[in-house]
Amino acid sequence: MTAPRLERSSGTPARLLIVGPQGSGKGTQGVRIAESLGIPTVSTGDVFRANIKDGTPLGKQVQAIIEAGNLVPDELTSAVVRDRLAQDDAAQGFLLDGYPRNIGQVADLDVFLGGRDEQLDAVIELSVPRDESIERIALRAAEQGRSDDTEEVIAHRLSIYERETAPILDVYRERGIVDEIDGVGTMDEITERIISALVARGLARRAAA
Ligand code: AMP
Repeated sequence: MTAPRLERSSGTPARLLIVGPQGSGKGTQGVRIAESLGIPTVSTGDVFRANIKDGTPLGKQVQAIIEAGNLVPDELTSAVVRDRLAQDDAAQGFLLDGYPRNIGQVADLDVFLGGRDEQLDAVIELSVPRDESIERIALRAAEQGRSDDTEEVIAHRLSIYERETAPILDVYRERGIVDEIDGVGTMDEITERIISALVARGLARRAAA
């Protein structure tokens, strides 16, 4: 599948966050949008999984926490994100996937971005009903065999999402930067909805064919 033809509005950085429950398709959509805009995707879940796979000290520190479906401590997670965002390729924007995930991390990110005179430009909220999320995660578990995709852990992660992550949307909503996107439909339909929202904000424009 090719990434849609899209570009950043000239001279405008795009600092984006995609939020949604597990199984909302945020990982896939995030990568498609970031690739089209030429900005890196920063997925804390991917960073942690890569470290676990490589057996790094960070991986060893977080493995049991992730397998239980709990959140990695904020200090550790925010440090990972700060290091990543300090790299050159994030200077013109980035798409965060899976961070911030609670109110404490929102504050950490505000401090970091504020120190660079930056802020998030848009938060894409992918809405998917709980039943559909669970169905999609079960499918992914069968396909990818993720060790944190067992039925019990999935239910636990969804309840953490509802309790800890959903409230961050209220903070961003007050800032007027949340676009709620219906996450039910085909992959292309959902990408199209996200693009329309970014275009409406002046953060992206459709490239000529
Ligand atoms: P994800 O791929 O985004 O669902 O993340 C997989 C797991 O990594 C989560 O269930 C958490 O255990 C951990 N994780 C990822 N991002 C964060 C975060 N921002 N804060 C704390 N833990 C996280």
